[in-house]
Amino acid sequence: MAKKVSRIGVLTSGGDAPGMNAAIRAVVRTGIYHGLEVYGVMRGYQGMIEEDIVRMEGRSVANIIQRGGTILKTARCKDFYEVEGRKKAYANLRKKGIDGLVIIGGDGSFRGAVAFSQEFDIPCIGIAGTIDKDIYGSDFTIGFDTAVNTAIQAIDKIRDTMDAHDRIFIIEVMGRDAGYIALHSGIATGAENILIPERKTNIKDIIESLQEKERRKKLVNLIVVAEGDDFGGAYEIQKILQENLPKAEIRVAILGHIQRGGSPSAIDRLIASRMGYHAVECLMEGRHNVFVGILNNKMHYIPLEKAVKNKGNIGGEWMKIVKILAS
Ligand code: ADP
Repeated sequence: MAKKVSRIGVLTSGGDAPGMNAAIRAVVRTGIYHGLEVYGVMRGYQGMIEEDIVRMEGRSVANIIQRGGTILKTARCKDFYEVEGRKKAYANLRKKGIDGLVIIGGDGSFRGAVAFSQEFDIPCIGIAGTIDKDIYGSDFTIGFDTAVNTAIQAIDKIRDTMDAHDRIFIIEVMGRDAGYIALHSGIATGAENILIPERKTNIKDIIESLQEKERRKKLVNLIVVAEGDDFGGAYEIQKILQENLPKAEIRVAILGHIQRGGSPSAIDRLIASRMGYHAVECLMEGRHNVFVGILNNKMHYIPLEKAVKNKGNIGGEWMKIVKILAS
């Protein structure tokens, strides 16, 4: 029989993502529904180590479902990489009687949870909160949909001026290791080229197609590039294109942190609420060291270790569609 939990902690860790607040709200209220005491750990693993842990009531999470960022704050915590740091964190949780943890974060935060759960007996349940959607095993991660919609709104605006002046625009979106934001926002804005870290960028092809457009006097072109593209970011691409198309007007826009902020989309609020609810159910059922994912609209419980070892496939068919639709 699994040990019953009675006091749970919830934290947000790593990169923030819109919808994290909706997930915190769901964890707190589901926990209280089950008669648990719920604690909020401030600034991710840092708050575990520094014992910055506060009691949460139902009203502590009132009026936050629509807010970006995270009321629990988030941090990157160096000390948690060391066993000494994790020991301190464990001792602080024990002091408060916390016997279950919900960790809302990305693959780094899950790696931290794996290390912690291998050493100590507090069950950890992950909720994938990352705008990059780079976690294997779930069709959704909290924040991705909002980030894509933010990028789309910005790109649409840039496209208006790009079109008016017949320019080439290179728009860099977030994604150091993963190209999902670039892929989805690029498809949804009709980009001619989408450059992502998961696929080798064929710059020669792009140059040739632009030179051909120049000959047809139709040199207007939208390129969406993920910041971690193998060829480099937007400025690298601009440099090489300008060398090969000296007469073209080539502009760069880097969307940056606007992609992380803002009110979460309906989808992000819904999945955050659903995942938060199920994370607490997992702890009640005695599950441990899994994260809650959604696949084909069903909940799945995937070992945290698996989530961090595998990356999803990306691109394939979509890249073919992009090419056909942009021609
Ligand atoms: P994200 O969760 O958004 O991917 P990070 O990669 O920065 O963000 O990870 C968040 C935090 O998780 C780190 O600052 C660190 O405290 C913890 N962490 C990440 N990897 C490990 C690891 N291998 N061992 C222990 N803790 C880790």
